[in-house]
Amino acid sequence: MFDHVLSALKKSRLGALEHGQVRQSGSAGSLFAGDFAGVLSVDAEFSGSRLGIGVMDNLEGEVVSLKGTTWAVPSDGKPREVAGTDKVAFGIAAHGGIRHSLRIPAGSDIAGISAALDNTLSRHHIDHEDVVCAVEIVGSFEDVVLRTIHRPDYEGEPLGEIIDDEIRFSFAHWQGTLVGFRYPDATAGMTIPGLHLHGISEDRNSGGHVRNVATTEVTAHVWLDDLVLEAEPEGSQKAVAIDFDRYEGPVSKNAQE
Ligand SMILES: [Zn+2]
Repeated sequence: MFDHVLSALKKSRLGALEHGQVRQSGSAGSLFAGDFAGVLSVDAEFSGSRLGIGVMDNLEGEVVSLKGTTWAVPSDGKPREVAGTDKVAFGIAAHGGIRHSLRIPAGSDIAGISAALDNTLSRHHIDHEDVVCAVEIVGSFEDVVLRTIHRPDYEGEPLGEIIDDEIRFSFAHWQGTLVGFRYPDATAGMTIPGLHLHGISEDRNSGGHVRNVATTEVTAHVWLDDLVLEAEPEGSQKAVAIDFDRYEGPVSKNAQE
């Protein structure tokens, strides 16, 4: 299913913008199918990377990685720095490359951030379906909802069921860094389509997967890369039916409490 992406990249329109390297371990499909076994150590995944996101082995927390420091945000919502030998069940890391400024208007929600990103790409004649972007957004935000997850209640519990009782933390005002990736909208299965952000607060006391956010005053950068994914694993068909919006996308105001 990534053939079109890869062939588009061979023609490479990336010449206009230098690109870094984005690496993914694990598959979203396996994760949603209930396989939370660690696939790689934190060091192997994030060492030397600029930024990254992921989820810990056995869902011991949502993962945020920033310039070589990696935190897991477990069910109590308090980030803790993880050991290099700890394992991630899923991880995406951006390595190097040249960063480009990204202008994000105040008041942008996740869809607004995604639109700002796509505008920047299209100004460089790059289609968002042809690349993967690593993003970093630093500054102040409003109406932030961060979520984390608990360990599975039983072996093989599907991720969807776990996310149905995700643990949400809401902040009227929040200061910190959001990092993540914008994958093509058509990558459901191996990876998570669209824009996916994790956050860590400036005081390092809160973090997690970003469900809702509105930018106040931010500085943002983007790194572009070609898409390199492992072969689709057995059982990844299951992923086709995943409702990513429901599990990873914005939550309605009413549902936040
Ligand atoms: Zn996430």
